[in-house]
Amino acid sequence: MVEEQLRGRDIVDERVLAAMERVPRELFVPEGERHRAYADAALPIGHGQTISQPYMVARIAEALGLSGGEKVLDVGTGSGYQAAVLAELADEVHTIERIPELAEQARKNFAAAGYDRVQVHLGDGSLGLPEEAPFGAIAVAAAAPGLPELLYEQLEPRGRLAVPVGGRWGQRLEVIVRSPEGPAVVHSVPCRFVPLVGEQGFRK
Ligand code: SAH
Repeated sequence: MVEEQLRGRDIVDERVLAAMERVPRELFVPEGERHRAYADAALPIGHGQTISQPYMVARIAEALGLSGGEKVLDVGTGSGYQAAVLAELADEVHTIERIPELAEQARKNFAAAGYDRVQVHLGDGSLGLPEEAPFGAIAVAAAAPGLPELLYEQLEPRGRLAVPVGGRWGQRLEVIVRSPEGPAVVHSVPCRFVPLVGEQGFRK
């Protein structure tokens, strides 16, 4: 996976590549999907949701430019895989999921894979997590119709937000830096994520 899907494409950050080597992806997919845990694809995790494609997880992790001391927010826990990768790269990771059963399963996945330090929250992550803000970086694994302003406002100065922005069926992964002049888009690639359902997302 790391050699062909990540290094073989354009992931160059050695810390990210090492993190992707370390996290056991098979422990974050349902049992029936384990044989394709390392496939170059998103996989179903129930409730109409997916665990993101490894490449997208690495792309987001790389785009956040983490150096190790950050407090990070991961919106859309799903399986918990992205949060586990971020936990390898930052100091403190909070993750928020709106579907209770997925949050519960993610807690089990974290325990099985040794990532109990990831803090799981239940709620509408399109509003961020004000009680834990500010964050050095925020990763969103679901598509928003526009830049979620409340998330941007929960960034530290120079903090980075990675979020798929666009329509329901196709988006661009935008990487935005909080700067004194306002949101600065530093990077943008086409992608396709499940919708962010919430107040600052799609209404269902
Ligand atoms: N990062 C996940 C990807 C999960 S897919 C992984 O690695 O497995 C996106 C997730 O976002 C889904 O679980 C979905 O339920 C969740 N989601 C969608 N809208 C949300 C919202 N407003 N708040 C929190 N979670 C949300």
